[in-house]
Amino acid sequence: MQGVDALSRALRSADGRSYGAYKQIEGAYEGRLGGLAYQLFVDHVQPDPYAPPSRIRLRVPQTYAGFPRNLYNNRDRRVALEDFVLRQLASLAGEGLSVDRPGQEVLEQTAVAITDQFVEARLWADLPARGRTVLGRQAEALLLQALPALAERALCFASLDSRAVRRHVETVEEAAILRRRLPELGLVAFLAEGSILPRRSGVDDRPLPAGQAVPLQVPPSLAVEVELPYSGRCRGLGIPRGVTLIVGGGYHGKSTLLAAVESGVYNHVPGDGRERVVTDAGAVKVRAEDGRSICGVDISPFIANLPFGADTRRFSTANASGSTSQAASIMEALEAGATALLLDEDTSATNFLIRDRRMQSLVAKEHEPITPFIDQVRRLAQEGVSTVLVLGGSGDYLDVADTVLMMDTYRPVDATQQARQVAARFPTGRQSEGCPLPVRPRSRCPLPESFDPHRGSRPVKISTRGQRQIVFGSTTLDLGAVEQIVHPSQTRCLADSLYYLVRRYADGRTPLGRILDRVEEEWDRQGLEASGPFIRGDYARPRRLELAAAINRLRTLRVADRDS
Ligand code: ADP
Ligand code: MG
Repeated sequence: MQGVDALSRALRSADGRSYGAYKQIEGAYEGRLGGLAYQLFVDHVQPDPYAPPSRIRLRVPQTYAGFPRNLYNNRDRRVALEDFVLRQLASLAGEGLSVDRPGQEVLEQTAVAITDQFVEARLWADLPARGRTVLGRQAEALLLQALPALAERALCFASLDSRAVRRHVETVEEAAILRRRLPELGLVAFLAEGSILPRRSGVDDRPLPAGQAVPLQVPPSLAVEVELPYSGRCRGLGIPRGVTLIVGGGYHGKSTLLAAVESGVYNHVPGDGRERVVTDAGAVKVRAEDGRSICGVDISPFIANLPFGADTRRFSTANASGSTSQAASIMEALEAGATALLLDEDTSATNFLIRDRRMQSLVAKEHEPITPFIDQVRRLAQEGVSTVLVLGGSGDYLDVADTVLMMDTYRPVDATQQARQVAARFPTGRQSEGCPLPVRPRSRCPLPESFDPHRGSRPVKISTRGQRQIVFGSTTLDLGAVEQIVHPSQTRCLADSLYYLVRRYADGRTPLGRILDRVEEEWDRQGLEASGPFIRGDYARPRRLELAAAINRLRTLRVADRDS
C-alpha cells in the first residue's frame, strides 16, 4: 500500500487540470495524523463535479480505535455500536464529506463496519472544483486533514461519550432480547408503560415532544412484567397472540398504536419513545393496494368464483382490486413466513373485511366471490398466525376476537369482557361464510427471466427513488404500500438484491421461501455488501418479508408451481 504522500503528490499534480484528472487518485493509501494510523481507500472517483460524489473508505485499526470487545461481540451489539458510530459521523461530517443518515430505527447497515481488526467508515467525498477545474490543494485538505480528523473524533472509542455508547448498545440489545422472548410470553407485541407512540408528523418520525404526547398507560388486565438484563423489571402492555381488535372513537389513537406495533419489528434509538415497543419479528402490515400486479397467487381462501371463471388458485392480474390485492398480500406474506398480520380499517378494503347480515341477504353467496377476512381470521389464529386489527366501524368482529383493546383519549382500556356482553346482547345474525379451504399458501417458484432488467443490449439500470420506488430496467416497482420499509437504504438494498442475489437462485424450481432463506444466509455470511457489485455505504437490511413484498410486486414476475 502506498503512503498518503503519493496521494498528496497526485492531488498537487492534478491541481488546475480538468476534473477527469482526479481519476488517478483511485487506490489505497496509508497515513498518519498525530498518533492515528489509518488507511484510506478511494474506491470510485466521480467523473465530474455534478455527478454523485466519490466513494471512499477510511479504516482505523482496532488497536488504535480501542472499542471494548463487549460492545460488539454479538450481532445485536455490533449493529448497535455501528449505528452509534454512524450517527456520530453523520453529526460531525463537515463540508465535502457525508455518510448515510439513519432514521429512528437502528438497522444493520453498511456505512460503518466494526471488526476485531478495524473500524471502517464508508463515506462520500465531494472532490473540490472550480467549475470543472480540480482544486488539488483543497482536495488535500479534505482527504488528508478533515477526513482523518473526523475519524479521530467519530471512529475512536476515546472520543465518544462512553455512557451514551453503552446506553445505545444496551437499549438495542434489550429490545432484541425482549422481541425474542415474545413467543414464550405468548405475545404478538409488548409496549412498555410510558412509551411515546405518536410521531411529530406524517413526514417526521421523531416522537411528539413531551407535554404534547400522552405516555402509554397499561390496563392492569393486560399488564405483563418482564425482567431485562440491564434495566431490570419492566411493565408493559402485552398484546396476546390470537385475534386482537383495537377499537375506539375516531381520533383516539388507534392507528397510532398499530403504527407503533408495525414499527416494533425494528429496534429504536434511545429517546425515540418506542425503545421498548417490540413486535413479533414476523408481523406484517397488510393493506389494500388496488392497481398492483399479482402473479400466480392462491387467493382462493378469500376469493373464489370470479366473474368469467378466473382461476383464483393461481390468480394473476396486472391491475388488482382493493380486495384481491389485500387477499394476495396476505397469502404472499404467509408464503414468506409471516406469523402475524396487522390491519387497519383505514387502509383496508371494506368488502374484504366484512359482509354483514343485510348484504348477505341481498347478494346471495353464489354472486359474491369474496369470503371476508372475518370468516378466516380464526382459522389463521389456529394455524399460529395472529391478527391485530384496528376497527371502528364493524362490530361483527366482536364475535371472533380474543382480546378487545379500546382506545379512549389515547389510553388503552381492556374492553374484552364488555365486548363479549355486547356480542351476546346484540347477535348480528350473520352467517359464517368460512370456506373449507385451508389457509396454506402453495409454493411458487419464480422464473429467472423475472429478474432480468436488461433492455436489449443496454446496460442494466437499477435505481431507487426515495424509499418507495425501484426502477428495475424498464419497469417501475412501487413499494408505496409496503409500509414496513422504513429507510431508503433498505430500498436500495432490495433493488440490488433482486438482481444480484434473487436472480442467482431463481431457477424456476426453487420455491420463493427457499430463495428468501438463501438471500438471508448470504446477508448473514457475507454482510449486506453481497447485495451489490461493489462496496457501498448506503445499504440497510430489510426483512425477508419486505424482500418477498418487492419480488411479488415486480411486474415482470413469472412463476411456476412447485410440482410442474
Ligand atoms: P384514530 O386512528 O383512532 O382515528 P390516530 O391514531 O390517527 O387516531 O390519532 C389521531 C391523532 O392523535 C394523531 O394526530 C396522533 O398523532 C395523535 N395521537 C395519537 N396518540 C397520541 C398520544 N398518545 N398522545 C398525543 N397525541 C396522540
Ligand atoms: Mg385511524
